[in-house]
Amino acid sequence: MAVCLPRRYGRASLPVVKPTPYDNVPAWGEHLESAQYPDLTGDVRADVCVVGLGGSGLSCIHELLRLGHHVIGIDAGTVGGGAAGRNGGFLLAGTVEFYHDTVAELGRDRARRIYQLTLDEMDRISSETPDAVWRNGSLRLADSEAEERDCQLQLAAMRNDGLSVESYEGPDGRGLLFPEDGSFNPLARCRTLARRAVELGATLHEQSRAISLSNGEVRTRDGRVLCKHVIVAVDGHLELLLPVLAGRVRTARLQMLGTGPAPEVDIPRPVYSRWGYDYWQQLPDGRVVIGGCRDRFIDDEWTTDTTPTTEVQQCIERVLRETVGVTQPVRHRWAAAVSYSSGIMPVMDQVRPGVWAIGGYSGTGNVIGALYGRMVAQIAVTGTSELLPALAPGV
Ligand SMILES: Cc1cc2nc3c(=O)[nH]c(=O)nc-3n(C[C@H](O)[C@H](O)[C@H](O)COP(=O)(O)OP(=O)(O)OC[C@H]3O[C@@H](n4cnc5c(N)ncnc54)[C@H](O)[C@@H]3O)c2cc1C
Repeated sequence: MAVCLPRRYGRASLPVVKPTPYDNVPAWGEHLESAQYPDLTGDVRADVCVVGLGGSGLSCIHELLRLGHHVIGIDAGTVGGGAAGRNGGFLLAGTVEFYHDTVAELGRDRARRIYQLTLDEMDRISSETPDAVWRNGSLRLADSEAEERDCQLQLAAMRNDGLSVESYEGPDGRGLLFPEDGSFNPLARCRTLARRAVELGATLHEQSRAISLSNGEVRTRDGRVLCKHVIVAVDGHLELLLPVLAGRVRTARLQMLGTGPAPEVDIPRPVYSRWGYDYWQQLPDGRVVIGGCRDRFIDDEWTTDTTPTTEVQQCIERVLRETVGVTQPVRHRWAAAVSYSSGIMPVMDQVRPGVWAIGGYSGTGNVIGALYGRMVAQIAVTGTSELLPALAPGV
């Protein structure tokens, strides 16, 4: 997973637009049919309009439906067409930082509560979409002696707080094993959640970009949603839609590639290595997906462009060949946008009266994004949420 990338705010870089030979199709999409929801035309009414149909927006929509609200969801592209359907598929507990670093930053009590909430959310994700989820644990592999020492600090902090973790030593190296983590097909989950939301009464529109937002109204090119509440659940490109958040989140590109079935390796659980900068997993059908290397091209990757680049792709492929040991040809190369927040926790804010926004998961939004989606739904329509004290006590 794209864990632990430094939330460093370098110089702004202009999008690099260059021709690419890459398909930019995620490995997750190969065997899945797109659902196809109509674009928004004319005026429609709802209690709540949710902007963004990724994992966070869909989790938000389901919570709003549970609370009895009429919801319209819109997306500039397709369901799961952003990072939510194009990511590494890791389901990891905790925050973007390792547990002992989270304790140092937020205190033991809050770090422990957040860890438990993310474990509970993983249970929820598994029970909602069992066919798309594999609870096979995860592995943090140390890439240096310094990282091995850091693993020991993490092990001690987690054991101290009664959390599941084991020391790991295997043919691939040394590190830590987290038995309760897992992985999933993120695009399959998004599509399942979207289909169910429609069955439960929500209306969804694809190819419907929000171009203006205000209290009570969301405008797209061809239509308007008139509503009591607006919730923006957009991770990458959030500051483009809401410039008021520009100092708090910043868009970056993350890149991956995928191979065909690779019988030459046996990777029983998702792995992240080199402080989380490189991450890979083998899917049940034997294919391998791998991402990373962003830190080696940090200035180039602070961009809103979502085209894979030769330099990063070559870097990832070197890790695939030299560290992971895969010899199969690469089938897919893809990229997507996420946003990094300026603090350890994501952003949830009422950016103007009646308009809430969430995002800034710093490369780790699969689990915590689902939690933020539920939290923002609760707070927007009821004024409070049981999740606030742990996740966003200042709101
Ligand atoms: C390559 C890669 C690997 C990653 N690996 C992992 C991982 O292994 N584990 C993990 O936890 N996280 C990972 N992440 C991060 C994770 O994918 C994201 O944090 C998470 O998916 C964000 O989901 P979301 O629903 O909040 O936002 P998004 O997926 O960004 O969805 C937002 C949606 O909003 C739409 N949208 C944007 N602007 C507008 C607009 N103006 N109007 C209407 N719609 C709009 C977009 O089209 C998009 O569909 C990875 C990300 C990438 C790119």
